[in-house]
Amino acid sequence: MSVEQVPVQRADFDQVMVPNYAPAAFIPVRGQGSRVWDQSGRELVDFSGGIAVNVLGHAHPALVGALTEQANKLWHVSNVFTNEPALRFAKKLVDATFADRVFFCNSGAEANEAAFKLARRVAHDLYGPDKYEIVAALNSFHGRTLFTVSVGGQPKYSDGFGPKITGITHVPFNDLDALKAAVSDKTCAVVLEPIQGEGGVLPAELEYLQGARKLCDEHNALLVFDEVQSGMGRSGHLFAYMHYGVTPDILSSAKSIGGGFPMAAMLTTEKLAKHLAVGVHGTTYGGNPLACAVGEAVIDVVNTPEVLAGVKAKHELFKARLEKIGQQYGVFSQVRGMGLLIGCVLTDAWKGKAKEFFNAAEQEGVMVLQAGPDVVRFAPSLVVEDADIEEGLNRFERAVAKLAGV
Ligand SMILES: *Cc1c(COP(=O)(O)O)cnc(C)c1O
Repeated sequence: MSVEQVPVQRADFDQVMVPNYAPAAFIPVRGQGSRVWDQSGRELVDFSGGIAVNVLGHAHPALVGALTEQANKLWHVSNVFTNEPALRFAKKLVDATFADRVFFCNSGAEANEAAFKLARRVAHDLYGPDKYEIVAALNSFHGRTLFTVSVGGQPKYSDGFGPKITGITHVPFNDLDALKAAVSDKTCAVVLEPIQGEGGVLPAELEYLQGARKLCDEHNALLVFDEVQSGMGRSGHLFAYMHYGVTPDILSSAKSIGGGFPMAAMLTTEKLAKHLAVGVHGTTYGGNPLACAVGEAVIDVVNTPEVLAGVKAKHELFKARLEKIGQQYGVFSQVRGMGLLIGCVLTDAWKGKAKEFFNAAEQEGVMVLQAGPDVVRFAPSLVVEDADIEEGLNRFERAVAKLAGV
């Protein structure tokens, strides 16, 4: 028995959806690897990866297999019961990282919410009610709940919703002196993205993260890394902190961790985890068997030398070609990022026009992203075929040539 499907089109969006998004004019209906087809049968190369989510592209056989197998077994039991996929996936995350304990949830915002609440709880338990300040970076992004927009360093996302969460200070990213000036014994946590994603694909400098670690240790504050975008192989390492050799106390992961299935996790140490005692925090769907079965398959494929080395090799392919395009058409002042999270910074002449690149690329049959108004972002599948990279960048170059009027 199948559910009756009425025909729908893009125009329906404006009739039935809350207008908080402005989706593209076409509707994707099918994906395979790094190719996507829309309602009219038009094929596009996908370099957007569902915003750094579709870590193994579309319809990867390992993920489809894990999901369908679990779908026929058990979907959901709530956290009144535990389940096998959650325990297996948690073991894999613990084995692969600094962490001893895992809290599963469903989105990056929720993973950060758990991270920030844990940091405040630990400080409250150990040092009393005055140690609650959080130091975060300007231009950072941590999600859209009230706590996460308050910690995020972009007032456009936090203004206009009444009083914000207080006790949060924002400092310029990659400025160690500013961080030093802001951290005190009242600080409970320093929150950083090792690579600022939404803020423009800006990697942290090594000395900055090392300095942040030292400051936290000196002031009994926790170092929280938001690896929602940079994690699960995207940087060419399982997590970007491994590239830097700077270990956080708490790490949030989402996006790629579920490969397209809603899934997120907060990772931490046993010593800190015990502050989230029974009943202190929770979520109904967190650790859902379907999500965890997919997550397990994702980490099995991603955390292999072949895939991670492939990410670094593919980075070089993207970077070389994008730098060439940038120079030839005078559009990019810099191509930056790590692994398969790449940002092309627009030259002064093109500042503010990232959306035009998005639109022009779509018209030539390639899906890209922006990261703010001044950066064109690429966050493709980590196993994107080299042939797809070439074809997609050919299409992208045609889009740029059109924009530049040549
Ligand atoms: C996307 C993102 C988030 C928010 O994740 P959601 O799943 O949208 O809640 C948080 N932090 C970073 C660094 C992100 O890129």
